[in-house]
Amino acid sequence: MQFKLLVDVYEQLEKISSGNTMREILANFFKTVPKEDISIVAHLTLGQIDSQYEGIVLGLAEKSIIKAIALASGQSETKVKELVQKKGDAGLAAEEVLHKKPRTLVPVGTLTIHLLYETLHKIAQTSGSGAQEKKTSLLASLLQKASPLEAKYLTRIVLGTLRMGVGEMTVLDALALAYTGEKKNKEILETAYNICPDVGEIAKTLAHKGLKGLEKIEIHVGRPIKMMLAQRIESLDELTKKMPGKVAVEGKYDGERVQAHKDTTGKITLFSRRLDTITAQFPDLVKHLEKHVKAKEYVIEGEILAIDKKGRPLPFQTLMQRRRKYDVEQYAKDIPIQLKIFELLYLDGKAQFQEPYEKRLAQLQKILREGEGVMPADRLITDDLEKIDRFFHEMLDQGYEGIMLKSLSGEYQAGTRGWNWIKWKKEYAKDLGDTFDLVVVGAYHGRGKRSGMYGALLCAAYNRENDSFETVCKLGTGLTDELLEELPKKLAKYKVGQKPARVHVSREMEPDVWFEPKIVVEVLAAEITKSPHHTLGLALRFPRFLHFRDDKTAEQATTTKEIKEMKNKK
Ligand code: ATP
Repeated sequence: MQFKLLVDVYEQLEKISSGNTMREILANFFKTVPKEDISIVAHLTLGQIDSQYEGIVLGLAEKSIIKAIALASGQSETKVKELVQKKGDAGLAAEEVLHKKPRTLVPVGTLTIHLLYETLHKIAQTSGSGAQEKKTSLLASLLQKASPLEAKYLTRIVLGTLRMGVGEMTVLDALALAYTGEKKNKEILETAYNICPDVGEIAKTLAHKGLKGLEKIEIHVGRPIKMMLAQRIESLDELTKKMPGKVAVEGKYDGERVQAHKDTTGKITLFSRRLDTITAQFPDLVKHLEKHVKAKEYVIEGEILAIDKKGRPLPFQTLMQRRRKYDVEQYAKDIPIQLKIFELLYLDGKAQFQEPYEKRLAQLQKILREGEGVMPADRLITDDLEKIDRFFHEMLDQGYEGIMLKSLSGEYQAGTRGWNWIKWKKEYAKDLGDTFDLVVVGAYHGRGKRSGMYGALLCAAYNRENDSFETVCKLGTGLTDELLEELPKKLAKYKVGQKPARVHVSREMEPDVWFEPKIVVEVLAAEITKSPHHTLGLALRFPRFLHFRDDKTAEQATTTKEIKEMKNKK
């Protein structure tokens, strides 16, 4: 398939702001895509060349991109660079210079999506000496085949700045519509996507094997499954209703969730909550796992904690310093970690996640040897609320966040905030309100002491049903001077000229600056009240910034449904 056909769709999507129209355009387009191309096309509509978890990095320096544009257009690098600065968008600059390409530079063939996909993969794989030159000439070879409009989008894909406002859920909706004629079948796609979070694989399976094929999708070592999340309760007494009888009570640790996969060759891969590959950041954890978890093949989950010399947990922010590309070994020495393992999802050729908790736990206990850096989650099995409360306070005394209550007969509900897991945290127990993970969608210019900076942020919750973001609070409290300085830098990458299509904001709340929904912040709020100004219809009272949740994607933020349920319970 020619890249031009996809570019025509990008052009249409860029101009619309309605989620439904977006779905229709995509569905109509998907119907025309040959089956063998649908996987690549599904990724490219999200601006990716593969799934997030593959961790593909093109490794092209901006300088190299400018050089490639210059080569393909016959312009000087200085001219291209000036234009990029003037336009603030290398895509638009590429489009303009290619328009002015001298006639003597004849186009060399057409650009197909296969060629684009293969060449971009080649660029990613090129390393070693002279890599930047090789990458540049590969990119130039693509740009030489591109029309000005194709060059605009190709450049944005390469830079990772293709912002069509299309979310994964919108792509699943459109696939369901295109291949089954009914949006309601999306549920089947979503269930498969929770086990195989790869839109390309879902699209390919649907195109070739239909809904039946999707129902058979299995967990695979090396491909993460979407992580299960926990429900909340208002008081511990409520537990008896939600999970009668004995339950497993575990410590709730405030660190980084990790899913560790070991394949039959012994290779261990670590995936984050966002399903990014984070193996390179934790070489020490890989060693600990090699030593203390004894099975040929497994998928397990746990929480990584930074610990002090006495083994006590350090704050989440300390652990976040381990999120780095450089000086990894030094930081591994300076900030030692420990993994509290709580789940087994796959073992030696067999999926385990749909087995009852009790069975999964028994298998986990068989393969896990407690040792340096690795240990089972603290655990108690009981039906006695007093014992649960005592365990909860013990966990708080040890510096943990609270407890997790797990149904002994419950399966692991991939990608779902299911009732088989319930969290009970210190904020609830002290009636301090609750914490919410919200997406920054806009900012207001500061006044007085804050003039010249952002004074407040407009924050939204995620509406999973519509794949959109609805606002719930204006956040100004808790932003320290340091943070106010950091904010413009952190948010600059996501600044956009107009309201992103998936963001819903009332006129009263329109911010001075818009952001693509990407950055997640954790907010503590005292109460949920009705509000005519926020598009959710509810607002958080006295919201206070706690910290960034860089471990979460926008689609993993607190959902509008959760906030509504919390309001109804009060
Ligand atoms: P929170 O901000 O309360 O951590 P969350 O939205 O990040 O909420 P929840 O589903 O509410 O996630 O809580 C589950 C999270 O708690 C997991 O993602 C995991 O990182 C962490 N966690 C800590 N200890 C455990 C445990 N024993 N079992 C499961 N998850 C645990």
